[in-house]
Amino acid sequence: MEQSSLIKPVLGGAYPTISHGQGVFLYDKNGKDYLDASSGAVTANIGHGVQEIIEAMVKQAKQVSFVYRSQFTSDAAEKLAGKIAELTKGELTYSFFVNSGSEATETALKIAIQHWQEKGKPKKQKIISRWMSYHGITMGALSMSGHPIRRERFTPLLESYPSVSPPYCYRCPLQLDQHTCGMACASELEASIRRIGSENIAAFIAEPVIGAAGGAIVPPDGYFQKLKKICEENDILFIADEVMTGFGRTGKMLASEYWDVEPDIVTLGKGMSGGYTPIAAAVMTKNVMEPIMKGSKSIIGGHTLSANPLSCAVSLAVLEYVERNELVEKSADRGNYLIRGLKKLAGKYSFIGDIRGRGLLIGIEFVLDKATKAPFPKDADVTNQIIELAMRNGILLYPAAAGLDGVTGAALIISPPLTISEEECAELLMRVDIT
Ligand code: PLP
Repeated sequence: MEQSSLIKPVLGGAYPTISHGQGVFLYDKNGKDYLDASSGAVTANIGHGVQEIIEAMVKQAKQVSFVYRSQFTSDAAEKLAGKIAELTKGELTYSFFVNSGSEATETALKIAIQHWQEKGKPKKQKIISRWMSYHGITMGALSMSGHPIRRERFTPLLESYPSVSPPYCYRCPLQLDQHTCGMACASELEASIRRIGSENIAAFIAEPVIGAAGGAIVPPDGYFQKLKKICEENDILFIADEVMTGFGRTGKMLASEYWDVEPDIVTLGKGMSGGYTPIAAAVMTKNVMEPIMKGSKSIIGGHTLSANPLSCAVSLAVLEYVERNELVEKSADRGNYLIRGLKKLAGKYSFIGDIRGRGLLIGIEFVLDKATKAPFPKDADVTNQIIELAMRNGILLYPAAAGLDGVTGAALIISPPLTISEEECAELLMRVDIT
């Protein structure tokens, strides 16, 4: 009889078995330690093994772990919705809880469409998005994602295609000069709207800082203001996908705060519970919710485990921990420290083309030639080789696809827990220097 086994991302791959985690470190069963410089998949924002989160988890489990959202609400879910409204400051006051970032963006898409239906504009069904983006692996979320590798096997099933170029100034998709381009990539949104017709478009979705699809790509100032204005002028909702960037990861509570743009819908996940339990959210303004509240009064979406009290209690404890320990400010500080250190290190390596990012969401892009920015060939698999070497060196890094076809560019993300100390940052810089 064949041995049964857990399916892993690379079938038959060698994965160490983890024993436990503490702070920014993980330990495997052979006693090897790993500095978690990626927070897993940019998720473990408050580090591992935090006692008060475990206590909050146990306390809630002793009361009740699960109630079905169509039958009951819970103090944990109500308080979490209140905390998110408080932390996001402005108009984002209505939370819908799900279990993953993909479900959050999928929910945002559906709520945007429903918003217009309830306003008597049922034709507004399309979502516009950008190339070099990742909004999740479920079909609606993947449809919106400009991530060629993750799309290619499912192309016939995908409903929409990204139509706007990313603000990837290091290697401009429009081959323009950053100083004279007039942000032509943002103007593409206007051209797209004209082509498709604003009467057919529900929303535009974008990550404020591009994560997995590009490696911490920060847009130029003015870019998001321009996009938001175009959305407003055309009656199109703006969805900010802050699944990766939310809750302090970039040195602000939400990354969109950097440019003072208020999204109509924000999606959150990952750091929302720091990985202690699965939870994510779509958060809406009153303007988005009002037609639904006055109309059908029901969101057509949600999952069996949506808003379950255990995950909500854990997320609430994590967000209180972020606030109490001033982790948003620390993320900005430690990010500056690490970017300075990495830039120094880059001088030593001919294949490091770019270091970029905000707060503790930092990207490194690898090139064959610094001067020409020539990328590595598709089959060089540089990112994975570096990640493997780094893992042997006791440091965890996160892969990202850079380059416009999502294949040729090689990049990775450095994103340690926001709790990382300065001494641990110095240790990180030592371990990442893999030669
Ligand atoms: N949106 C963004 C910006 C992400 O980075 C991710 C995951 O990497 C997702 C959505 C999907 O989240 P999940 O993997 O939790 O489904």
